[in-house]
Amino acid sequence: MIYLDHNATTPLSAQVLQAMMPYLRECWGNPSSPYRFGGEARAAVEEARARIARCAGCKPSEIVFTASGTESDNLAVRGVARASRSRGRHIVTTAIEHHAVLKTCEALAEEGYQVTYLPVTPAGVVDLSTLAESLTPETVLVTVMHANNETGVLQPVEEIGRLVHRHGILLHVDAVQTAGKFPHRFADIGADLVSFSGHKFYGPKGSAGLYVREGTPLSPLLTGGAHEMGLRAGTENVAGIVGLAEALDLALYSSQEEGRRLRRLRDRFESLVRGTAPSAKFNGASAERVPNTSSISFKDVDGESVVLALDLKGICASTGSACSTGEPEPSHVLLAMGLSPREAQGTVRVSLGRDTQEEDIEATAKALAEVVERLRALSSA
Ligand code: PLP
Repeated sequence: MIYLDHNATTPLSAQVLQAMMPYLRECWGNPSSPYRFGGEARAAVEEARARIARCAGCKPSEIVFTASGTESDNLAVRGVARASRSRGRHIVTTAIEHHAVLKTCEALAEEGYQVTYLPVTPAGVVDLSTLAESLTPETVLVTVMHANNETGVLQPVEEIGRLVHRHGILLHVDAVQTAGKFPHRFADIGADLVSFSGHKFYGPKGSAGLYVREGTPLSPLLTGGAHEMGLRAGTENVAGIVGLAEALDLALYSSQEEGRRLRRLRDRFESLVRGTAPSAKFNGASAERVPNTSSISFKDVDGESVVLALDLKGICASTGSACSTGEPEPSHVLLAMGLSPREAQGTVRVSLGRDTQEEDIEATAKALAEVVERLRALSSA
């Protein structure tokens, strides 16, 4: 199998699994229990929090553990909206966010909040002057993703942070597609809240976190115990949290060198595809992108059919975000970048990872050329 869908999820690293095992087998106590056995689990959770804080460049008390990137996004957006209700009810986001943010904003709109969805340029980037114009005295939160999961395009989040802070507005950054992939410490982005998720950087699924800058007004989503500084009730997933810290540390350690390697492979892949399909469109390629992602729109083929045909050849790719697979609608991200519904439907996403080698790239480019040619011949027959 050639796995080229690392933006959907990544395999659990052997070293991460090893670090987690003692907390699944022997040290399975409840971190809130008062006896020593519980204390050992508490110590593991707090050590993981301190480790993540070191990676993120923040205080341990600014890290809240959650069960997914989706939950982190929900906590950030809903949590700030609810806690800031008396100050204002306007939220600014972009048209290309992950559904974890978009659907949350839609739900808040039904509760009476006003939401502005910023457009993006054809390259997939938010325009800072449009953002500045959208801010009102009622705006309490701007929520913008760091890298888009479908195209890999990066947003100028540091500049956005400086802009919104000048107006006393909070910034949430969904860094699910960049945390662990970039050498940067994600608290250094300058946002007030940052979402990250373990399974995107070779950690366990169901273990994620939210950086919450000290003093940020935030209401919890869940009612229950006073876990996680009162921000997330529920017994901690100790092994998952240990795995999250181990995975982030490991990923950051190699991120610079790995980023260079992936960029070289991705660029080689794109030039091979360009050679066989000159009319193919590389979405977001003129913008700054994460180094592992390639989103390609082919003329006159259906992306879903390409993905299924590649699967028969043992290659895992995607049409876009895993969450929208099975949905017949074209990607909202690509439509926002100005693609026609037909172009958007003809799109395939390839996302490289730690195990991707040169021969995988060459075999995939060759398979893609064969599949696209065959499907085109079928559709024109
Ligand atoms: N945000 C982005 C940008 C994502 O790509 C994803 C997952 O693909 C999420 C949020 C949701 O993360 P999780 O799968 O951990 O719920």
